[in-house]
This record gives sequence, C-alpha cells and structure tokens, in this order.
Amino acid sequence: MTLRILVVSPDYYTYGAMVVGGVCERWGARVRLRREPDPESLRSADVAIFSLHSTQHLLRKDVIRAVRRAVEACRWVIVGGPVSQVPELVLERFPEVIVAKGEAETVLPPLLDALAEGEDLEEVEGVCLRSDGDVVDTGWPPPADLESPRPLKVPRGLGEQDIRGANVYIETHRGCAGTCTFCQVPCFFGREIRWKPVDAILEEVRELMRAGARRFAISGGTVTMYGDDEEDFVRLLAELSDLVGRENLSAPDVRADVLNERVLEAIRDHTIGWIFLGVESGSDRILKRMKKGITVDDVREAVELARSVGVRVAASLIVGYPGERDEDVEATEELLSELMFDDVFINVAEPIPGTELGRLVVELPEDEIPILQPGERMETLAGDRALQLQLTAFTTLSRPVPLSDDVYEEAVKGVREEERKVARVTRFLREHAAVLRGSAR
Ligand code: SF4
Repeated sequence: MTLRILVVSPDYYTYGAMVVGGVCERWGARVRLRREPDPESLRSADVAIFSLHSTQHLLRKDVIRAVRRAVEACRWVIVGGPVSQVPELVLERFPEVIVAKGEAETVLPPLLDALAEGEDLEEVEGVCLRSDGDVVDTGWPPPADLESPRPLKVPRGLGEQDIRGANVYIETHRGCAGTCTFCQVPCFFGREIRWKPVDAILEEVRELMRAGARRFAISGGTVTMYGDDEEDFVRLLAELSDLVGRENLSAPDVRADVLNERVLEAIRDHTIGWIFLGVESGSDRILKRMKKGITVDDVREAVELARSVGVRVAASLIVGYPGERDEDVEATEELLSELMFDDVFINVAEPIPGTELGRLVVELPEDEIPILQPGERMETLAGDRALQLQLTAFTTLSRPVPLSDDVYEEAVKGVREEERKVARVTRFLREHAAVLRGSAR
C-alpha cells in the first residue's frame, strides 16, 4: 500500500521535519510538507505526522486544533520530534495519536511498514500509544547511523524563513557530552557524539540552496564538538564557507571549555565571526546546580581568547533557575559589566520534559522556583530578574544601547512573553508530575 503522508512542522520548516519527510519518501510514501495543515492536504493524507520540537506546541491552541483536525481527517496521526522524549505527556494532550520516539531514521520505517501491512503496532520498537485504555510503550529505537546518506524532503521558499537570522539550521552531528540539567540534546540524542561526513553535509546544503536557502547556521548542540579532532571542524567550516560564503554561515553555540585558538581562527575566517557562548550565569553556585561543567573563570578565559583572535562574543544567559538567589543575579550583572559582551541573550530557565530541570520543577516547593513566585515589576520573580539583567545588558554591551522609553517598553514586552511562556510550561509539568517522575532515561 502506498501511503500518502502529510508532515507538519509548525512555525517554520525545521531540519528535523525535512528529515522526517525524506525518511518517509525513501520508505516509498507520497509526502507533503506543510507548516500548518490545510483542509485539502489533510483530506488527501492517510497519515499526518506532526514534528514538534517544543513543549509549547503541546500547549498552543493552534497546534492542538491542528492535531485534532488531523485526527478527524486522517487514518493515523503520528507525533514525533523532541516532544517524544516524554511520550506519555504527548498522549495526555493527544490521546488518539501514535508517538514515534527518538530519531526518525530508525523509528519511522518499521512503523510505516506496520501501518501499511496492518500489523500490530505493539511489535514496533520505539512507539508509545494508548491501547484499550492502557499506555503501551515499546522502548527506544536505536540511534541513527549518520554515516549513511539521508535524503531530505526540502520545501520550496526556504529563503523566506528566518530562524534567528538563518534560513535554516543544518545538522552536522548529534549528541553532546555535556550534562547541563536544562538541555535536551544529550537526553534525546545521547552523550556520545555521532557526526556526518563533510561530503554528505555539503550535499545536503546544496539541496537546501536549490530550494532557496542562503543563510545557514550549524545546530546540533556544541558546534566545535564535530569530528575526531579540531582539524575536522576546521575543514568542515572551510568547505561550508566555500560553498555558501562566510557572510552566510554561522556556528553559533559553543561551550567555553571546548575552544582554542585554532577553532576560533576558523570561526573568524569561515563564518560571520561570532560565537554565542553558553555563559548561563555569573554565579559559580548556579553553574554547579546546572551541572554546566564550567566555571565563571572558564568564561573569562574564553572571552579573552576569542577577542585576542578577533571573534565577537555574544553571551547566552539563563535566569530564574530553581534555587537562584538575588546575589546570583548580581554576580551575573557584575560579569556583564566586567566582560562587556558584544551581544547578550537572556532566557528564563525553561524546564524541558525529560531533562533534569524538567524533573526538578515538579519536585521542588514553589518558593524555590522563581518563575512561580510573584514579581514586583513583572508578573514573576524570574521576570523581574530577567528584566533587571536585560537592562544591565543594554548598558554594559561593548556598544551600549541608550535606555530610551521605547527600548524599555520593548524589553518589558519581550520579558513578559518569555515569563508567561515558561510559567505555562512549568505549571503544565507540575500538573503532570507523576508522568515526569518516571521519565528518566
Ligand atoms: S547546553 Fe550545550 S553543552 Fe550543555 S548539554 Fe546542551 S548542547 Fe551540551
């Protein structure tokens, strides 16, 4: 039986959704890729696959409506992507769907075989579904072998989408050896790093360029962990930049303790010349709680080295981590003043299901979780602190931003959106505490 499959990637076409589409096509299905399912594409699909990369998708009304419409219109609805880390949580939201866990390359082909042949889904490795009122979970599928080529289903018009400045985030490797409590990468892809051959990456990029993509960022956790050693990473950047142009390539996310001069020179010579350093906090106490594996001194050294090479440094910060105190936030403000970053991005600590932080927020009392504490200027204590850090960041940047009324209002608006989003997720997880407690892998 030839299956007609609609792959839905809310908001924008993620690399993961393109892999899902490519895997389905290689299996033999007729595949369409959409950001939202229109009635016609739903009517003509046997299977709808929702590739969901954020917990927000389980809470957003438009996504919930789209999944419900698909359940009514299609024979089968599958939910996959990073939300499959805690499949019971997906089933709480969407009881009628089949959750495809883990990586598309290994979970989808046997699942599609079983659907097409009418076989028992409980025999397929890596799925979770409701059957006669019970949740049936068939374990985790094996990790994919990234050495072999993987076709992508590439939609047209990629050049029109903007994901934090890039048209598309490309994947060079999976996994991360880090232990950061807030991060999903090692939970979902494992702590062992698997990488793709450079030629395979270049082939994918050519295909994405044919679909209109021009600006590329490298995803996959910490970019400099690619390859056997730093020379592999240097070669990767050199070849990518030859293909797309250095002004169109960024290698954003790096750890302070896996940088050296050679790697930074390659970032300077073959990319837009910025790093986005996972600083997270200026307090060693909080870095320890986050199991970040670096100290504030590591950050100082990394910034000094990057600047000596001519690479600009943006800091990525997390505020509102459980157990955070006022003095931790003050330490981060002091670090901002001391290092005068070229840019600063502030996120409220978002508990992702399946991570250690995701479990922590369901165990701790509310008064240890800043996003659940009332704020003075903002709705929550985490919001107050995020705003405080944002205002400090503006005035301490290497090129300070004057604090006009407009800038202040914009900052308040951004923080309000962020705190509401994280508060919603945190409450959702606490409502499903029992599910989260059993989610350790
Ligand atoms: S935050 Fe970065 S270093 Fe930490 S586990 Fe995630 S990808 Fe690895």
